[in-house]
Amino acid sequence: MRLGPAAETAVRQGHPWVYADRIKEQNRIGSAGELAVIYDRRDQFLALGLYDPDSPIGLRILHVGKPVTVTPDWWRDRLRTARERRRGLFDEQTTGYRWIHGENDGWPGLVLDRYEQTVVLKLYSTVWLSRLPELVPMLFAEFHPDRLILRLSRNIQEAAAKADLGDGFEAIAHPSGAGNVRFVPATSDPIVIFKESGLRFEAEVVQGQKTGFYLDQRENRRLVETHAAGRDVLNAFSFSGGFSVYSARGGARSVTDLDISSHALGSAGRNVALNQNSVQIVGCPHESVQADCFEWLAAGPRREFDLIILDPPSMARREHERAGAIQAYGKLAASGIGRLRPGGILLSASCSAHVTDAEFFGAVRDAARKSGRRHSELRITRHAADHPATFPEAWYLKAIYLQF
Ligand code: SAH
Repeated sequence: MRLGPAAETAVRQGHPWVYADRIKEQNRIGSAGELAVIYDRRDQFLALGLYDPDSPIGLRILHVGKPVTVTPDWWRDRLRTARERRRGLFDEQTTGYRWIHGENDGWPGLVLDRYEQTVVLKLYSTVWLSRLPELVPMLFAEFHPDRLILRLSRNIQEAAAKADLGDGFEAIAHPSGAGNVRFVPATSDPIVIFKESGLRFEAEVVQGQKTGFYLDQRENRRLVETHAAGRDVLNAFSFSGGFSVYSARGGARSVTDLDISSHALGSAGRNVALNQNSVQIVGCPHESVQADCFEWLAAGPRREFDLIILDPPSMARREHERAGAIQAYGKLAASGIGRLRPGGILLSASCSAHVTDAEFFGAVRDAARKSGRRHSELRITRHAADHPATFPEAWYLKAIYLQF
């Protein structure tokens, strides 16, 4: 393949995506996941990528620089590099975390999360479908899980069905030999209990959001624990209550989960129940409120809190949603601030890839200024070490802590 000049430069500088309309020349039509060799304008080897005819990103770069021979060992090394990168990050008190974070680990469109002895392989691109027979035995050999659950993003489910693969299928290890993987709809327990910072949580690995848990917010949950003592905590967009369980252990006076989904709140209740070995958690009143956060915060019952967490789902999945999302973050922060007692802390988070750090922090800081209340900025946070971000589009997660 040959690329347009701007795309060629971007690839040379390490960007992992080439949009289909930037592919200037290809010697033949390829199939999804085939290796593509890219030559530069001087006809020198530039890079290797996976051809992705099913996506606007027509090419996902694997390697740039000197020519390499792609062998099973080459792939295995890549798995080991990802694993090495996490060495020492977690002890046995944390058994849920990300092993492979997509292009940031050299595995474009592929995520591998560990929950205890289960790994969840989530694919966001069809490029991996034809490679599963080679890849899955390697994952078993390198990460030693008891089972592997396959999750598929919605946009690739139709293509996967043609290969008899479905979202929530599982592969069982074949001790007898590699290369012999079969995927079937999961029949084992759809829920895994794992540990995070010594706390126990359930992850719905077969059907839940993401791969079953929001592993990417772990560092914020840990920080919230350190701020929670003596506070009434509101966990807005609580999902399965992670922030509340940490807050309770941190000595919160009470925790309230607020989510639109009864399913999420059910899981939050079970997560509190899973941690009854902690005296702080046993002693901390826990309440669940099922409501739309935007409405409840703006016009719900007159209740105030000392720590409010706002962690909504992505509000800008596409570029044209950006302006609306920035506004919504501002409104949300304003209504959260309106419910904070003096000395109260607001944690406002965004996982919208199309809203930049500056735009998001700007919206929250504006809301704080417009509240007319004196406040200080405690800190901002970004990606955790097991969720590295190595190119601009990968920086989706950001959070800001303000105290009033
Ligand atoms: N903070 C969580 C992750 C939040 S995921 C954690 O650390 O695990 C986003 C959650 O927002 C989901 O549970 C979803 O059900 C909920 N949600 C989406 N829109 C909502 C709305 N308008 N009001 C309340 N909850 C909403």
